[in-house]
Amino acid sequence: MKTWFAIPLWQRVIGALILGIIVGYFWGPGAASIKIVGDIFIAFIKMLVVPLIFFSLVAGVASIGDLRKLGSVGWRALLLFVVTGQMAVWLGLGIGTLVQPGAGLDASAMNLDAAALERAQARQEDGVTVQQMILEMVPSSPVQVMADVNVLPLIIFSLLIGIGILMAKEEGEPVLKIFESGSVVMQKVTMVVMELTPFGVFALMAWVAGTLGVDALQALGIVVVLNYLGCFLIIGLIYGGMIKFIAKLPVIDFFRGIIDAMAVSYSTASSNATLPVTLRCARRNLGVSNSVASFVISLGATINMNGTAMYLGLATLFGAQVFGVDLSWGDYVLISVLGTLGAIGAAGIPGSGLIMMVLVFGAVGVPLETIALVAGIDRIMDMMRTTTNVSGDAAVAVTVAALTGELDRAELISADDV
Ligand code: ASP
Repeated sequence: MKTWFAIPLWQRVIGALILGIIVGYFWGPGAASIKIVGDIFIAFIKMLVVPLIFFSLVAGVASIGDLRKLGSVGWRALLLFVVTGQMAVWLGLGIGTLVQPGAGLDASAMNLDAAALERAQARQEDGVTVQQMILEMVPSSPVQVMADVNVLPLIIFSLLIGIGILMAKEEGEPVLKIFESGSVVMQKVTMVVMELTPFGVFALMAWVAGTLGVDALQALGIVVVLNYLGCFLIIGLIYGGMIKFIAKLPVIDFFRGIIDAMAVSYSTASSNATLPVTLRCARRNLGVSNSVASFVISLGATINMNGTAMYLGLATLFGAQVFGVDLSWGDYVLISVLGTLGAIGAAGIPGSGLIMMVLVFGAVGVPLETIALVAGIDRIMDMMRTTTNVSGDAAVAVTVAALTGELDRAELISADDV
């Protein structure tokens, strides 16, 4: 037992992944009999969605501290978060449409629960009107919204509670404490659930390899490559462009200044765990003022996740291709909105992007079995997503600081001696 926990989780997951593939390869279609272990793992992941979003979003909004702060710094940061999130998710959708990583796979071999596929198809035929969609965004019954895991109204409800806490000032503090502590508690619960990953991954990979064979592994390899490609493009083009053209700062100096944060985020796969390092880089190496750094970067670690947004777009297309779900333009728009919102709702901890898939997939009728397919390779992609997320927080912080006169340029240029 002790030796088991002494091995870092990600190593146990990789070990389970390899073992699962080998077992599945030799066992063949019979490996579907252990899929139940993977299903249990995914059921636990689903359990986390609502409380994670609810606590982390309310705490994130309320941590702004003061409604007026949403002024000059706040709207710029939020605008950049949302615009880059949208660009990222469309990038994921673009890459997924061009390369079609799931097109060569035939999901019929996977012995899927027929009811799940029928549900997915029924949703396709439903044809929801715009009026209905807008009306459904209103959290008319918060409890119902939570019971249905209906993310859009849940996010709106959480934002309103956060604003309410800010408006209540001192009287809102006890409630704020509950949400702050609730958010920490949920992160711990997530850590516990993540301990199931090696078992879930083993069973899922055996099932994938046993029923779909080597084709599946090749397709998953392509998803990993595309995930890295998307992240590199976000970092190079979107952040590089933002630093050069909006902040008007030297791009190389920016990246040199955040190298520590990038290294820590890659190895921990957690924006939250990297937060102290990102803050230090922004203040010391980039010359961002204290108040802008703490506001933008703390909020960003919770809500600004462009790597995650990109991946949600890519993974949704992968699932749709594998299971033959036709997506309309309306679905693309819905994915882009939910992908951005899912990234906002995801907590800055390892694996939370995986959890948010539940939301996007459910809305466009992609079977949740897709999560089972990609769960085994999630960590390796999560590391790159997190690096992208964290670099984005720093990029937005330095840009907002440059625009509002809160940047010490001399500090940024002299980042050599860090
Ligand atoms: N692990 C990521 C982060 O902390 C979120 C994700 O899973 O995409 O930023």
